[in-house]
Amino acid sequence: MKSNPTVARRRFLKTALAASGAAFCADAFPWNARKDRREARYYKKLAGDKVQCLLCPWCCIVLPGGRGQCGVRENVRGVYHTLVYGTASACHIDPIEKKPFFHFLPGRPAYSLATAGCNLECKFCQNWELARRSPEEVFRYGRALPPEEAVREAAGQDCPIIAYTYNEPVISLEYTIDIAALAKEKGIRNVVVSNGFIKKEPLRDLCECIDAYKVDLKAFTESYYEQIVGGSLAPVLDTLVYLKERGIWTEIVYLVVPTYNDGETEIRNMVEWVGKHLGPDVPVHFSRFYPQYKMKNLPPTPVPTLQKARQIGLDAGLHHVYLGNVPGHEGESTTCPACGRVVIARAGYLILENRLKSGKCGYCGNPVSGVWSAT
Ligand code: SF4
Ligand SMILES: [Zn+2]
Repeated sequence: MKSNPTVARRRFLKTALAASGAAFCADAFPWNARKDRREARYYKKLAGDKVQCLLCPWCCIVLPGGRGQCGVRENVRGVYHTLVYGTASACHIDPIEKKPFFHFLPGRPAYSLATAGCNLECKFCQNWELARRSPEEVFRYGRALPPEEAVREAAGQDCPIIAYTYNEPVISLEYTIDIAALAKEKGIRNVVVSNGFIKKEPLRDLCECIDAYKVDLKAFTESYYEQIVGGSLAPVLDTLVYLKERGIWTEIVYLVVPTYNDGETEIRNMVEWVGKHLGPDVPVHFSRFYPQYKMKNLPPTPVPTLQKARQIGLDAGLHHVYLGNVPGHEGESTTCPACGRVVIARAGYLILENRLKSGKCGYCGNPVSGVWSAT
């Protein structure tokens, strides 16, 4: 069953720390920014030992000794470094539905790992303990996890999927790509849970080794991205279009924040854009906001607002429009776009019934889009 994300987040941290043994002991991990760094990819050198990062659309210009806006990439005398390669702040096995992916190997466990930092600054961040703190703070609770070890652990725990999640995987892209490439060789799938705020060249490299990408589409206006998220909408839409071109399975989450991005016109513009540019089979999850971090002054999203958003999506012709963080709602289940019968019944993260047969509706035989088989 789904729960309040703040509570779930605390529980996750507690579990991760409690599961430590040698792995997550706060006292036992001597992470050190000098020792545990390596040269970054995706940057260019500028005059005067400055560098320009080319990983995300910020294109930060960083002075010697400085860090980029994400806080995890540092200029060391004219050479740009990533500080988050080979260190995990948390590892956990989650159902793939928790990411959420509803059309990607349903019911299968995902070995889920995180590093530190983020390139956006969402005022409602659910994972601010990881995303809004420095590597020095976050990795007090981390451990060394070389790519080979991550893949070995995932395989050893019978996880057919590795998920790069909890904080933004784009800013640790060198690490993400190295794990994903190794995992792919072993037949393990890779999924990215991301804000989609990434430049084209690194995205192209990432797409060589991943199987699915969940994009948090925060809103459908530049003003919201500027004021609430600290980013820009246009590059995220470019990412979505590129993923479509590359054939990477994509699902979209839209967190509906009361009075900020819940207007019917904005929702309609968004779903119409999705239908036109990505097609009707891309799942859109309208997720319920809970007050947290810097947005504690708002109430949770009223369920009728979410239902209305879902109806707008369905009316626009989208085939798979879900509700998130509303456990037990019919909007958690997958229906066949042809006959309208429920083909995957869910309650929270649980699959109650799966009536798909080889990716087709078990009632009428119509294909349902998704990645349904690990083989
Ligand atoms: S990844 Fe970090 S350092 Fe690079 S451009 Fe983005 S915010 Fe700046
Ligand atoms: Zn059917």
